[in-house]
Amino acid sequence: MGHFSRTINGETPESVAYETLPVRVLIVGAGAAGARTAIELVERGVAPEDILVVGKRRHGDAHTTWARGGINGALGTHDPDDDWTVHAADTLTEGHHVNDPDKVETVARRMPGLLRELDEWGMPFSRTDDGDIDQRYFGAQSFRRTAFAGDHTGESLLDTLVDRAQSLSIPYRENVFVSRLLTDADRVLGAAATDLDTGDFLLFDADIVVLAAGGYTSLYRRHSSRDDENTGDGPALAYAAGARLMDMEFIQFHPTGMVGARYGDEWDGRLVTEAVRGEGGHLYNAQDERFMERYSAEQMELDARDVVARAIDAELDAGRGTANGGVYLDISHRDRDFIRERLPRMYERFADLGVDMASDPVEVAPTAHYGMGGVVVDDVGETDVAGLYAIGETMAGVHGANRLGGNSLAETIAFGQVAGDAIAARLAAGDATDTPSSTLHDHARRHFAALETLADSRGSTQPATLLDDLRDLLWTHAGIHRDETGLAAGLDALTALRGRALDLDVGNPTSRSFEFALNLQFGLTVAEAILRSAHERTESRGAHHRPDHPETDPDWRRNVVVERGTLGSMALSTTTVGRPSDPVRTALDAGYELDYHQLE
Ligand SMILES: Cc1cc2nc3c(=O)[nH]c(=O)nc-3n(C[C@H](O)[C@H](O)[C@H](O)COP(=O)(O)OP(=O)(O)OC[C@H]3O[C@@H](n4cnc5c(N)ncnc54)[C@H](O)[C@@H]3O)c2cc1C
Repeated sequence: MGHFSRTINGETPESVAYETLPVRVLIVGAGAAGARTAIELVERGVAPEDILVVGKRRHGDAHTTWARGGINGALGTHDPDDDWTVHAADTLTEGHHVNDPDKVETVARRMPGLLRELDEWGMPFSRTDDGDIDQRYFGAQSFRRTAFAGDHTGESLLDTLVDRAQSLSIPYRENVFVSRLLTDADRVLGAAATDLDTGDFLLFDADIVVLAAGGYTSLYRRHSSRDDENTGDGPALAYAAGARLMDMEFIQFHPTGMVGARYGDEWDGRLVTEAVRGEGGHLYNAQDERFMERYSAEQMELDARDVVARAIDAELDAGRGTANGGVYLDISHRDRDFIRERLPRMYERFADLGVDMASDPVEVAPTAHYGMGGVVVDDVGETDVAGLYAIGETMAGVHGANRLGGNSLAETIAFGQVAGDAIAARLAAGDATDTPSSTLHDHARRHFAALETLADSRGSTQPATLLDDLRDLLWTHAGIHRDETGLAAGLDALTALRGRALDLDVGNPTSRSFEFALNLQFGLTVAEAILRSAHERTESRGAHHRPDHPETDPDWRRNVVVERGTLGSMALSTTTVGRPSDPVRTALDAGYELDYHQLE
């Protein structure tokens, strides 16, 4: 334990204690991305004791476990014409050509091999009658490319990775909340954290830090994540450390979230997997019209998520929704056994709620599901800050303006492997920071003193209340539709909210309010990045829909980048998009697309 003198409000010297833990590679995040990185490091020769994986929840309980539908990779189980180039082409098309083509290729090329590797590690993939890894349709993909384990793919994936990591003796700590990355000039030195069980402050003295801390969609009122995950920690930590963020305006609203007024608040926004539509589910409004005919007569329910989400939203706006504020999703024309086998978790969940999916429809409405934006990284996942990597949902670049279902788990695995490989090579070459440890401790001491001050705050506002207000703000001002007036008003409202955040009532470091206060600080940064980026992009593209700029503008084939400006302000700029490789261009030119009527 280190003890240092500190000053509160410049007057009262006190002592702040923390434990220092030296480690070569700190991985912040124990979901699929973090776990896969750790495995790769060990398989490339890094000693397990040089690695530490931390998560802010119980180990094995990362948000990844909520992924249901599947994971993409062009195995061609059913469709031999599928290959990695078509996967890449579909991803770029769905991303409306503002994805980073190199990152897309990294994922598409590697996934067939990585799926087979997961299979060897014991992943319980669903099988065809011939015993091959089965693959299903997912919206907007040219072929059946989505491998799955029933409708519990994420849970099975994380179980497989955790088993593998444990067999390699990779150390981890659970319930550890990282609140600050510590840097010197442009190099990461470590991270400051709180043990949420004991309230102890922890300083990780690390050569390399990998942010695999998930995304930011639970900053929206209706969202498909758990409230205290996907709170934007990864992007906010990276931004504060000096890294750039990109594409933050692109938020995917999943068309089929559960309707709280029908199933209870705790279910509001929770996902009804796309697999229900992939397996043939139909959408009806309250007038019994299969309304997708009006919006996408060819692709119908399997059109891209943004198209289906906007269609449902338009039906609700037109007053054709249910009394509970949703529309109906119906798969009752399929056999009960088929539904049970292909959608077991959904079937069980609704049965527990008294709904029999084999005979009745369920009620759904759009929900914020995935933030395509995140931290700017290079081809191996390293940020602008030397030694700091960002992967999985925390990184930007793979998905562009919209994400294909099944591509996010693919990204976690592919970039986990790529980053782990690159870091192992770097460590083998002897890379380590030579900054004196006094610098690290100076930074840590200041941060821990600020945390103590935060924990002592006895103001008038609960952090949880402000988090809820922030969620309402983003839903209202940067939701499925966003325009100039609403975004400007959103930025004003954010300034007011920031003011209220100066008067927090916070408890000690083991309390929920302490954690909420930290989430709030992250959320304020991320919300500003979303609002400013959405304001900047004066066109509609993919998931970003601006009724005041309804067309896609070819001049806007650029990415909006956010970085810390002088005096702490947020500075925006744009960058141009790279060119896909020749094989991918050939696949794009071939114009593959799914024959949606195969599903009827
Ligand atoms: C309901 C649902 C269904 C989905 N279905 C699919 C699907 O079928 N196919 C698909 O491809 N994708 C799907 N997705 C998306 C996919 O699940 C995620 O994008 C992916 O699992 C993200 O993995 P990750 O490892 O990047 O992050 P996560 O799994 O979110 O893990 C983040 C980790 O970081 C830790 N962490 C966060 N902040 C901190 C902090 N401050 N300090 C310490 N630790 C921290 C967390 O505790 C956790 O361990 C779905 C998402 C949802 C919500």
